[in-house]
Amino acid sequence: MSDGRRFDALVIGGGLLGCATAWMIARDGGSVLLAERDQVNQHASGQNAGSLHFQLEYRMVEHGLEAARKAAEAMPLHLDAARLWAELPAESGEDIEVKQTGGLMLAETPAQAALLEQKSEIERSWGLDVEMLDRAALARLAPYLSESVIAAAFCPIEGKADTRTAAPALARAAAREGASVRTRCEVVAMRREAGAWRVTLADAEGVSEIVADAVVIAAGVAILTFLLFYVVPRFAAVLQSAPHLPATGRLLVGWGALVDAHRVALLAGLDTAVFAEVAAEIRLTPGARRSSSG
Ligand SMILES: Cc1cc2nc3c(=O)[nH]c(=O)nc-3n(C[C@H](O)[C@H](O)[C@H](O)COP(=O)(O)OP(=O)(O)OC[C@H]3O[C@@H](n4cnc5c(N)ncnc54)[C@H](O)[C@@H]3O)c2cc1C
Repeated sequence: MSDGRRFDALVIGGGLLGCATAWMIARDGGSVLLAERDQVNQHASGQNAGSLHFQLEYRMVEHGLEAARKAAEAMPLHLDAARLWAELPAESGEDIEVKQTGGLMLAETPAQAALLEQKSEIERSWGLDVEMLDRAALARLAPYLSESVIAAAFCPIEGKADTRTAAPALARAAAREGASVRTRCEVVAMRREAGAWRVTLADAEGVSEIVADAVVIAAGVAILTFLLFYVVPRFAAVLQSAPHLPATGRLLVGWGALVDAHRVALLAGLDTAVFAEVAAEIRLTPGARRSSSG
Protein backbone atom coordinates (compact mmCIF):
# COMPACT_ATOMS: atom_id res chain seq x y z
CA MET A 1 0.00 0.00 0.00
CA SER A 2 1.09 3.58 -0.55
CA ASP A 3 0.46 6.69 1.53
CA GLY A 4 0.09 8.66 -1.70
CA ARG A 5 3.62 9.97 -1.49
CA ARG A 6 5.77 6.85 -1.55
CA PHE A 7 5.45 4.06 -4.14
CA ASP A 8 7.28 0.91 -5.12
CA ALA A 9 7.23 2.21 -8.67
CA LEU A 10 6.40 5.31 -10.68
CA VAL A 11 5.40 4.75 -14.29
CA ILE A 12 5.84 7.82 -16.47
CA GLY A 13 3.44 7.89 -19.41
CA GLY A 14 -0.09 6.63 -19.92
CA GLY A 15 0.33 5.09 -23.36
CA LEU A 16 -0.09 1.37 -23.95
CA LEU A 17 3.28 0.50 -22.43
CA GLY A 18 2.81 2.59 -19.31
CA CYS A 19 -0.76 1.39 -18.69
CA ALA A 20 0.22 -2.26 -19.20
CA THR A 21 3.24 -1.89 -16.92
CA ALA A 22 1.27 -0.16 -14.18
CA TRP A 23 -1.42 -2.86 -14.38
CA MET A 24 1.13 -5.66 -14.10
CA ILE A 25 2.94 -4.06 -11.16
CA ALA A 26 -0.35 -3.46 -9.30
CA ARG A 27 -1.66 -6.93 -10.13
CA ASP A 28 1.56 -8.43 -8.70
CA GLY A 29 1.09 -6.51 -5.45
CA GLY A 30 3.31 -3.47 -5.96
CA SER A 31 2.21 0.06 -5.10
CA VAL A 32 2.39 2.11 -8.28
CA LEU A 33 1.66 5.60 -9.51
CA LEU A 34 0.96 6.09 -13.21
CA ALA A 35 1.55 9.73 -14.17
CA GLU A 36 0.36 10.96 -17.57
CA ARG A 37 0.84 14.58 -18.55
CA ASP A 38 -2.12 14.63 -20.96
CA GLN A 39 -4.89 12.03 -21.14
CA VAL A 40 -4.36 8.29 -21.12
CA ASN A 41 -3.90 7.01 -24.70
CA GLN A 42 -3.78 10.50 -26.19
CA HIS A 43 -0.60 10.00 -28.22
CA ALA A 44 0.93 7.19 -30.36
CA SER A 45 -0.88 4.38 -28.53
CA GLY A 46 -4.31 5.74 -29.39
CA GLN A 47 -3.49 6.66 -32.97
CA ASN A 48 -1.94 3.67 -34.67
CA ALA A 49 -3.07 0.79 -36.83
CA GLY A 50 -3.14 -1.71 -33.99
CA SER A 51 -1.47 -4.42 -36.03
CA LEU A 52 -0.16 -7.39 -34.08
CA HIS A 53 2.70 -8.26 -36.40
CA PHE A 54 4.94 -11.10 -35.27
CA GLN A 55 6.73 -12.00 -38.49
CA LEU A 56 10.08 -10.35 -39.12
CA GLU A 57 9.51 -7.03 -40.84
CA TYR A 58 10.73 -6.54 -44.40
CA ARG A 59 13.40 -4.09 -43.25
CA MET A 60 14.81 -6.89 -41.09
CA VAL A 61 15.24 -9.33 -43.95
CA GLU A 62 16.10 -7.11 -46.92
CA HIS A 63 19.77 -6.89 -45.89
CA GLY A 64 20.51 -10.60 -46.09
CA LEU A 65 20.04 -13.74 -44.08
CA GLU A 66 22.63 -12.94 -41.44
CA ALA A 67 20.75 -9.75 -40.50
CA ALA A 68 17.47 -11.70 -40.53
CA ARG A 69 18.90 -14.37 -38.19
CA LYS A 70 20.06 -11.64 -35.82
CA ALA A 71 16.64 -9.97 -35.84
CA ALA A 72 15.01 -13.37 -35.23
CA GLU A 73 16.76 -13.61 -31.87
CA ALA A 74 13.91 -11.41 -30.59
CA MET A 75 11.37 -14.07 -31.63
CA PRO A 76 10.77 -15.32 -28.04
CA LEU A 77 9.50 -11.80 -27.29
CA HIS A 78 7.18 -11.92 -30.32
CA LEU A 79 5.79 -15.26 -29.12
CA ASP A 80 5.34 -13.92 -25.60
CA ALA A 81 3.57 -10.86 -26.97
CA ALA A 82 1.23 -13.01 -29.06
CA ARG A 83 0.33 -15.08 -26.01
CA LEU A 84 -0.13 -12.01 -23.81
CA TRP A 85 -2.44 -10.33 -26.32
CA ALA A 86 -4.53 -13.49 -26.58
CA GLU A 87 -4.91 -13.69 -22.81
CA LEU A 88 -5.26 -9.95 -22.15
CA PRO A 89 -9.06 -9.57 -22.15
CA ALA A 90 -9.54 -12.45 -19.68
CA GLU A 91 -6.46 -11.61 -17.60
CA SER A 92 -7.33 -7.94 -17.23
CA GLY A 93 -11.06 -8.48 -16.86
CA GLU A 94 -11.60 -5.81 -19.51
CA ASP A 95 -13.42 -5.94 -22.81
CA ILE A 96 -10.33 -5.34 -24.97
CA GLU A 97 -10.94 -6.13 -28.60
CA VAL A 98 -8.16 -8.42 -29.84
CA LYS A 99 -8.53 -10.42 -33.05
CA GLN A 100 -5.80 -12.88 -34.00
CA THR A 101 -7.14 -14.24 -37.27
CA GLY A 102 -3.86 -14.26 -39.19
CA GLY A 103 -1.60 -11.91 -41.11
CA LEU A 104 -0.01 -12.03 -44.57
CA MET A 105 3.33 -10.75 -45.86
CA LEU A 106 3.09 -10.45 -49.61
CA ALA A 107 5.46 -11.13 -52.51
CA GLU A 108 5.02 -9.77 -56.00
CA THR A 109 8.18 -11.20 -57.58
CA PRO A 110 9.87 -14.62 -57.48
CA ALA A 111 12.84 -13.01 -55.68
CA GLN A 112 10.54 -11.64 -52.96
CA ALA A 113 8.83 -15.03 -52.66
CA ALA A 114 12.22 -16.72 -52.19
CA LEU A 115 13.14 -14.17 -49.53
CA LEU A 116 9.84 -14.80 -47.70
CA GLU A 117 10.49 -18.55 -47.85
CA GLN A 118 13.93 -18.10 -46.23
CA LYS A 119 12.44 -15.72 -43.66
CA SER A 120 9.73 -18.23 -42.78
CA GLU A 121 12.29 -20.99 -42.30
CA ILE A 122 14.21 -18.85 -39.80
CA GLU A 123 10.98 -17.98 -37.97
CA ARG A 124 9.85 -21.59 -37.81
CA SER A 125 13.21 -22.53 -36.28
CA TRP A 126 12.24 -20.20 -33.40
CA GLY A 127 8.77 -21.70 -33.05
CA LEU A 128 6.64 -19.15 -34.94
CA ASP A 129 3.81 -20.79 -36.87
CA VAL A 130 4.18 -19.45 -40.42
CA GLU A 131 3.56 -21.04 -43.81
CA MET A 132 4.05 -20.04 -47.41
CA LEU A 133 0.91 -19.76 -49.54
CA ASP A 134 0.96 -19.89 -53.35
CA ARG A 135 -1.35 -17.96 -55.66
CA ALA A 136 -4.08 -20.64 -55.59
CA ALA A 137 -4.12 -20.80 -51.77
CA LEU A 138 -4.15 -17.01 -51.59
CA ALA A 139 -7.10 -16.80 -53.97
CA ARG A 140 -9.07 -18.95 -51.52
CA LEU A 141 -7.94 -17.17 -48.33
CA ALA A 142 -7.82 -13.57 -49.56
CA PRO A 143 -9.62 -13.23 -52.91
CA TYR A 144 -9.48 -9.43 -52.60
CA LEU A 145 -5.69 -9.37 -53.21
CA SER A 146 -4.34 -8.01 -56.48
CA GLU A 147 -3.32 -10.48 -59.20
CA SER A 148 0.19 -9.06 -58.87
CA VAL A 149 0.62 -10.91 -55.55
CA ILE A 150 2.15 -14.29 -56.37
CA ALA A 151 2.82 -15.69 -52.89
CA ALA A 152 2.61 -14.78 -49.21
CA ALA A 153 3.83 -15.83 -45.79
CA PHE A 154 0.83 -16.49 -43.53
CA CYS A 155 1.09 -16.33 -39.74
CA PRO A 156 -2.17 -17.40 -38.03
CA ILE A 157 -1.52 -15.64 -34.71
CA GLU A 158 -1.16 -12.16 -36.20
CA GLY A 159 -4.08 -9.76 -36.05
CA LYS A 160 -5.37 -6.48 -34.68
CA ALA A 161 -6.04 -4.86 -31.33
CA ASP A 162 -8.40 -1.93 -30.89
CA THR A 163 -6.07 0.97 -30.14
CA ARG A 164 -8.89 3.24 -28.96
CA THR A 165 -9.75 0.97 -26.08
CA ALA A 166 -6.70 -1.12 -25.11
CA ALA A 167 -4.66 1.39 -23.07
CA PRO A 168 -7.66 2.97 -21.27
CA ALA A 169 -8.87 -0.54 -20.39
CA LEU A 170 -5.48 -1.39 -18.90
CA ALA A 171 -5.46 1.89 -16.96
CA ARG A 172 -8.85 0.95 -15.52
CA ALA A 173 -7.58 -2.55 -14.68
CA ALA A 174 -4.52 -1.00 -13.00
CA ALA A 175 -6.72 1.30 -10.90
CA ARG A 176 -8.91 -1.66 -9.92
CA GLU A 177 -5.78 -3.45 -8.70
CA GLY A 178 -4.93 -0.44 -6.53
CA ALA A 179 -2.71 1.68 -8.79
CA SER A 180 -2.97 5.46 -8.55
CA VAL A 181 -3.61 6.87 -12.01
CA ARG A 182 -3.08 10.60 -12.38
CA THR A 183 -3.74 12.37 -15.69
CA ARG A 184 -2.80 15.95 -16.59
CA CYS A 185 0.08 15.28 -14.25
CA GLU A 186 3.58 15.80 -15.64
CA VAL A 187 6.85 14.51 -14.29
CA VAL A 188 9.04 17.60 -14.39
CA ALA A 189 12.11 16.59 -12.38
CA MET A 190 13.70 13.54 -10.79
CA ARG A 191 16.68 13.17 -8.56
CA ARG A 192 18.32 10.20 -6.91
CA GLU A 193 18.45 10.45 -3.13
CA ALA A 194 19.06 7.86 -0.42
CA GLY A 195 18.59 4.91 -2.77
CA ALA A 196 15.27 6.09 -4.20
CA TRP A 197 13.94 8.56 -6.75
CA ARG A 198 12.46 11.87 -5.54
CA VAL A 199 10.14 12.94 -8.31
CA THR A 200 8.52 16.32 -8.87
CA LEU A 201 5.05 16.31 -10.40
CA ALA A 202 3.13 19.27 -11.79
CA ASP A 203 -0.64 19.35 -12.24
CA ALA A 204 -3.46 21.89 -12.08
CA GLU A 205 -3.15 22.05 -8.31
CA GLY A 206 0.53 22.92 -8.45
CA VAL A 207 3.79 21.14 -7.79
CA SER A 208 4.21 18.15 -5.50
CA GLU A 209 6.81 15.52 -4.75
CA ILE A 210 6.64 11.75 -4.45
CA VAL A 211 9.26 9.09 -3.73
CA ALA A 212 9.56 5.89 -5.77
CA ASP A 213 11.91 2.97 -5.41
CA ALA A 214 11.85 2.35 -9.15
CA VAL A 215 10.95 4.45 -12.14
CA VAL A 216 9.68 3.05 -15.42
CA ILE A 217 10.05 5.55 -18.23
CA ALA A 218 7.27 4.81 -20.73
CA ALA A 219 7.15 8.33 -22.10
CA GLY A 220 7.07 7.49 -25.82
CA VAL A 221 9.10 9.89 -27.92
CA ALA A 222 9.82 11.97 -24.79
CA ILE A 223 12.07 9.15 -23.62
CA LEU A 224 15.07 10.93 -25.12
CA THR A 225 14.48 13.81 -22.75
CA PHE A 226 14.66 11.44 -19.81
CA LEU A 227 17.74 9.70 -21.11
CA LEU A 228 19.50 12.97 -21.60
CA PHE A 229 18.56 14.73 -18.39
CA TYR A 230 18.33 11.91 -15.88
CA VAL A 231 20.10 8.84 -17.13
CA VAL A 232 23.12 10.12 -19.04
CA PRO A 233 24.29 12.45 -16.25
CA ARG A 234 24.31 9.56 -13.79
CA PHE A 235 26.78 7.83 -16.03
CA ALA A 236 29.03 10.84 -16.40
CA ALA A 237 31.60 9.72 -13.82
CA VAL A 238 31.78 6.22 -15.24
CA LEU A 239 31.90 7.38 -18.81
CA GLN A 240 34.52 10.02 -18.24
CA SER A 241 36.88 7.33 -17.11
CA ALA A 242 36.20 5.26 -20.24
CA PRO A 243 39.11 5.97 -22.59
CA HIS A 244 37.36 4.46 -25.64
CA LEU A 245 34.38 6.84 -25.46
CA PRO A 246 34.18 8.83 -28.71
CA ALA A 247 34.31 12.61 -28.67
CA THR A 248 30.61 12.89 -29.50
CA GLY A 249 29.83 10.69 -26.50
CA ARG A 250 31.88 12.88 -24.19
CA LEU A 251 30.16 15.98 -25.56
CA LEU A 252 26.74 14.49 -25.05
CA VAL A 253 27.46 13.25 -21.55
CA GLY A 254 28.97 16.59 -20.61
CA TRP A 255 26.00 18.47 -22.01
CA GLY A 256 23.58 16.12 -20.25
CA ALA A 257 25.31 16.74 -16.95
CA LEU A 258 25.26 20.48 -17.52
CA VAL A 259 21.57 20.74 -18.34
CA ASP A 260 20.75 18.43 -15.46
CA ALA A 261 22.59 20.74 -13.09
CA HIS A 262 20.52 23.66 -14.36
CA ARG A 263 17.25 21.68 -14.34
CA VAL A 264 16.46 22.52 -17.93
CA ALA A 265 13.36 20.52 -18.80
CA LEU A 266 13.18 20.88 -22.55
CA LEU A 267 15.13 19.02 -25.16
CA ALA A 268 15.46 20.43 -28.65
CA GLY A 269 17.45 19.66 -31.74
CA LEU A 270 19.14 16.42 -30.73
CA ASP A 271 20.07 14.32 -33.72
CA THR A 272 18.54 10.99 -32.80
CA ALA A 273 20.77 9.03 -35.19
CA VAL A 274 23.88 10.40 -33.49
CA PHE A 275 22.37 9.70 -30.11
CA ALA A 276 21.53 6.11 -31.02
CA GLU A 277 25.06 5.53 -32.32
CA VAL A 278 26.67 6.95 -29.21
CA ALA A 279 24.26 5.17 -26.90
CA ALA A 280 25.05 1.85 -28.57
CA GLU A 281 28.76 2.46 -28.26
CA ILE A 282 28.66 3.31 -24.59
CA ARG A 283 26.17 0.53 -23.86
CA LEU A 284 23.75 3.02 -22.41
CA THR A 285 20.67 0.86 -22.69
CA PRO A 286 21.52 -1.88 -20.16
CA GLY A 287 22.92 0.72 -17.80
CA ALA A 288 19.88 2.90 -18.21
CA ARG A 289 17.66 -0.02 -17.30
CA ARG A 290 19.69 -0.72 -14.21
CA SER A 291 19.65 2.92 -13.36
CA SER A 292 15.93 3.43 -13.77
CA SER A 293 15.08 0.33 -11.77
CA GLY A 294 16.80 1.77 -8.78
C1 LIG B 1 1.39 6.00 -37.56
C2 LIG B 1 1.79 4.91 -36.57
C3 LIG B 1 1.35 3.62 -36.79
C4 LIG B 1 1.73 2.61 -35.91
N1 LIG B 1 1.25 1.36 -36.12
C5 LIG B 1 1.53 0.38 -35.23
C6 LIG B 1 0.97 -0.91 -35.36
O1 LIG B 1 0.20 -1.17 -36.28
N2 LIG B 1 1.30 -1.87 -34.45
C7 LIG B 1 2.15 -1.59 -33.41
O2 LIG B 1 2.41 -2.51 -32.61
N3 LIG B 1 2.68 -0.37 -33.25
C8 LIG B 1 2.39 0.61 -34.12
N4 LIG B 1 2.91 1.86 -33.95
C9 LIG B 1 3.82 2.07 -32.83
C10 LIG B 1 3.00 2.23 -31.52
O3 LIG B 1 2.01 3.24 -31.69
C11 LIG B 1 3.97 2.63 -30.41
O4 LIG B 1 5.05 1.73 -30.37
C12 LIG B 1 3.27 2.60 -29.04
O5 LIG B 1 2.04 3.28 -29.08
C13 LIG B 1 4.19 3.25 -28.04
O6 LIG B 1 3.50 3.27 -26.82
P1 LIG B 1 4.09 4.07 -25.59
O7 LIG B 1 3.20 3.79 -24.44
O8 LIG B 1 5.53 3.75 -25.48
O9 LIG B 1 4.06 5.61 -26.05
P2 LIG B 1 2.89 6.70 -26.15
O10 LIG B 1 1.60 6.14 -26.58
O11 LIG B 1 3.45 7.83 -26.95
O12 LIG B 1 2.71 7.17 -24.64
C14 LIG B 1 3.70 7.92 -23.98
C15 LIG B 1 2.97 8.83 -23.02
O13 LIG B 1 3.93 9.45 -22.16
C16 LIG B 1 3.43 10.71 -21.79
N5 LIG B 1 4.51 11.52 -21.26
C17 LIG B 1 5.63 11.95 -21.92
N6 LIG B 1 6.40 12.67 -21.10
C18 LIG B 1 5.77 12.71 -19.88
C19 LIG B 1 6.07 13.32 -18.63
N7 LIG B 1 7.16 14.06 -18.47
N8 LIG B 1 5.22 13.15 -17.61
C20 LIG B 1 4.08 12.39 -17.76
N9 LIG B 1 3.74 11.82 -18.94
C21 LIG B 1 4.58 11.97 -19.98
C22 LIG B 1 2.85 11.24 -23.12
O14 LIG B 1 1.90 12.26 -22.89
C23 LIG B 1 2.23 9.96 -23.70
O15 LIG B 1 0.84 9.86 -23.42
C24 LIG B 1 2.56 2.89 -34.81
C25 LIG B 1 2.97 4.21 -34.59
C26 LIG B 1 2.60 5.20 -35.44
C27 LIG B 1 3.06 6.62 -35.17
